Amino acid sequence: MRSPKYLKDIQKIVSGQVLVEQEILRCYSIDASSYQVFPRVVVIPKNEKDVSNIVRFGRKANLSVTVRGAGTGLVGSALNNGIILDLREFNSIRVGKNTATVGVGTSKGELDKKLNEEGKFFPPNPSVGSYCSVGGMLGNNSSGSRSLKYGSVIDNVKEITLINGEGKKITLPKNKTIGKKIFTISKCIELENYPQTSKNSSGYRLDAVKSFKDSHKALVGSEGTLGIILSAKIKIMNIPKRRILYVIGYSSLDKAARNCRDILSSNPSAIEFVDKSTLMQFPLRFSKSTKCVLLVEYDSENKNERFMLTKMFTGNIIKTTSDEDEMKKWWRYRDSSLYYSLKSIDRRERLPHIIEDAAVPVEKLEKLFTLIHKINTKFHTKSIAYGHAGNGNIHVRLIANREKTGHLKDIATLYFDEIIKMDGTITGEHGDGLARSEFVSKLYGQKNYALFKQLKNLLDPYGVLNPGKIINSGNKMLKNLEKMSNV
Ligand SMILES: Cc1cc2nc3c(=O)[nH]c(=O)nc-3n(C[C@H](O)[C@H](O)[C@H](O)COP(=O)(O)OP(=O)(O)OC[C@H]3O[C@@H](n4cnc5c(N)ncnc54)[C@H](O)[C@@H]3O)c2cc1C
Repeated sequence: MRSPKYLKDIQKIVSGQVLVEQEILRCYSIDASSYQVFPRVVVIPKNEKDVSNIVRFGRKANLSVTVRGAGTGLVGSALNNGIILDLREFNSIRVGKNTATVGVGTSKGELDKKLNEEGKFFPPNPSVGSYCSVGGMLGNNSSGSRSLKYGSVIDNVKEITLINGEGKKITLPKNKTIGKKIFTISKCIELENYPQTSKNSSGYRLDAVKSFKDSHKALVGSEGTLGIILSAKIKIMNIPKRRILYVIGYSSLDKAARNCRDILSSNPSAIEFVDKSTLMQFPLRFSKSTKCVLLVEYDSENKNERFMLTKMFTGNIIKTTSDEDEMKKWWRYRDSSLYYSLKSIDRRERLPHIIEDAAVPVEKLEKLFTLIHKINTKFHTKSIAYGHAGNGNIHVRLIANREKTGHLKDIATLYFDEIIKMDGTITGEHGDGLARSEFVSKLYGQKNYALFKQLKNLLDPYGVLNPGKIINSGNKMLKNLEKMSNV
């Protein structure tokens, strides 16, 4: 095979692996989204000097540098055409009393196992489970069912060490000079143009930077566009002594949405939603009148809260359990909802993830279901829905004959316009990536978007890091849908 242009130059400056074989590049050209973008080179750095050298090389050679975790992202955030960095070697875990310092190449599964030995857990729990990496969770500001009580990654990180777009190592918030510059930008945001949701993975989370001590939070959810994160100090908690799960069936989505709002006041650790189409794929039987279920979990010792639930639920309790295996089984069903929903859709009828992750203030959940209905009527689509109802974050899987569907952009535009009117976010946890970056300025308004550009300029002045994501020049949503060229 002809040795590509960059191979020898890169081998001279890194001690880790440099890969250019077609088959390897093909593996890194896809993730769990419907996009495909071939990189030129894949590098598996051994140490932080390798990372720093690669970023500097990328600038000189005019090649983008994009860091990738486990590639389970659903919107192509980790795909790009230059150098892909795979930080799998950065997999150290140091557990302290209330924090752990973790290398970004650590898988969520390895982290959970290690913390479990100490009786601890890291609250954000994406449904993809053990496969994703800590780096990807930081990059997307991931969350999961228990984020209802404990927040997303951004709420659970105390310190971040990164290599910026100039190849310099920075630890935030320790580095006061950079931390204060980030805070200065954050002070200028129009907070009223930020989503009023309990979770949000779109744009840059300058709203979370309340002082320079929070400056590291601007990196969370930045999708590798502001820095290559090497490690993070995360908050860890004691595993609750006891959890209890209620599975409640409802005869309509609206009833479940209204009841979800009431149940919230009883301080549950999770309220998750699954619709009938997905339920029908579970290896279980539900009554005909069950149009959807809520899975409501409590993990405190406060019996009053649970007593409150029994007074306030309006559906039928299908299951109550505090048996660990039984609960695990139910959570496995819920966490596999994407799999079960796909099972029910013919391959030719699966539309790409574009509107799959919006979130609205929870009191607007009914409106969100009405909007989904409106989309289906207008564009002759069907849909499947499940998700983190307690956070107003519903995952929608659209179904339509791909051959006949030329409307993807129109669907996204209508959906996001309405979501923005509801003070919602275009993505609660999956990020902007290739699918949504072109909608970020609409969500936040021109002033906030200009501040995003200032932040990008501060940390990546030459635009080397994952260009085209979040800060975006042009239409990326329909480009690179290689596996689906007809949408
Ligand atoms: C079946 C399924 C269920 C899912 N459920 C959930 C869910 O419940 N909640 C949720 O939040 N997400 C969910 N996801 C989306 C995704 O799995 C998570 O967001 C996950 O945390 C991404 O991790 P990853 O390692 O695969 O990241 P990748 O996809 O590899 O990367 C994601 C982003 O992070 C950036 N990144 C990676 N490493 C670094 C680093 N070191 N420094 C800076 N940026 C970095 C990448 O550049 C990219 O922009 C789901 C996905 C699937 C397929």
